[in-house]
Amino acid sequence: MTRFTAYCACEARGRLLPQPFERRALRADDVAIDIAYCGVCHSDVHQVHNDWNNTVYPCVPGHEIVGRVSAVGPAVTRHRVGDRVAVGCFVDSCGECAACRRGEEQHCSAGVTATYNGKDRVSGETTLGGYADRIVVREKFVLRLPEALDAAQAAPLLCAGITVWTPMREHGVGAGSKVAVVGLGGLGHMGVKLAVALGAQVTVITTSPAKVDDARALGAHEVLLSTDPKAMMAAINRFDFILDTIPSKHNVNPYLMLLGTRGVLVVVGAIDLLEPVHGGLLIRNNRKLAGSLIGGLAATQDLLDFCAEHRVLPQCELIAIDTINEAYARLQANDVKYRFVIDMASLARA
Ligand code: NAP
Ligand code: ZN
Repeated sequence: MTRFTAYCACEARGRLLPQPFERRALRADDVAIDIAYCGVCHSDVHQVHNDWNNTVYPCVPGHEIVGRVSAVGPAVTRHRVGDRVAVGCFVDSCGECAACRRGEEQHCSAGVTATYNGKDRVSGETTLGGYADRIVVREKFVLRLPEALDAAQAAPLLCAGITVWTPMREHGVGAGSKVAVVGLGGLGHMGVKLAVALGAQVTVITTSPAKVDDARALGAHEVLLSTDPKAMMAAINRFDFILDTIPSKHNVNPYLMLLGTRGVLVVVGAIDLLEPVHGGLLIRNNRKLAGSLIGGLAATQDLLDFCAEHRVLPQCELIAIDTINEAYARLQANDVKYRFVIDMASLARA
């Protein structure tokens, strides 16, 4: 066992505070990583606040992890000490079910092991995430960080990036696709950047008039205010693909109306109730309503390589870890441009 320090929450709505923990000794196929940066996802806030009624405390969040390998187990072949590496939302899966064999480990039928608030498949202990100086992960679940990617900026690709990349690839977003991104936050801003990089015509649909200029600066060709009924009516039947990143219960009908024939609206944000969907809106235009959960290991490596090649990087605000509670308050107040990333060097000072 090795000691490490992490920021954890001990109760729902509690503040995150530093605390010592222990990580397991390296198993044969384990990699130890010194964490340099960790992104702050809205899911971290949901989990810490027990919004999904499944949080195990103490809870150490963080699943957008970037660092360097500090040690490897004797059976490790893919990573060496000193390598720049990354870890996303899960750290193990059964490896045998149809989903794992397809490279969709996130859908493992035996249950994927989440990076935090998961259950270690060997010891049964609760997994602890990346708001920490160190993590130990099976080598298969450790990704290679391309040299061309800035380590701090790359962190949000591990969740925000892959979560929007997967449905765009699945539903064929490419040159000329008419795409709308609902909600310009951590996920949404990556949706804009990646859809633009794939050659799509991109519209941002936002509740925030103050984000209109930012949306254009991020590459959006058009911006709609969802609070402007006239502008929304004028966009009916317009889009092939709508990415809905709204983080809480909401009404999807005003967005469904905007889909053209066989268009698809993919919900990635609201991991809870949606208001009732109007069947007539689905039936008209043969519209589709779908969901999507993060993405598999191979897809995540593809995304990292794509972003390195096309110079697509998240827009981040680097924070010290002792300001994490303020960052959570700002995230909930819709005040982040567009992803907080913790500089883990600040943990030693905290
Ligand atoms: P975020 O940075 O807070 O962004 C969400 C954006 O949604 C906000 O910036 C805001 O954009 C808009 N919004 C917020 N509240 C709204 C409301 N009540 N009505 C309409 N629009 C609203 O959050 P995030 O990190 O991108 O995460 C978004 C959601 O995705 C979270 O619930 C998270 O748990 C979930 N998530 C899902 C997956 C998955 O695998 N499916 C993976 C990661 C995260 P505007 O100001 O532009 O309106
Ligand atoms: Zn996340």
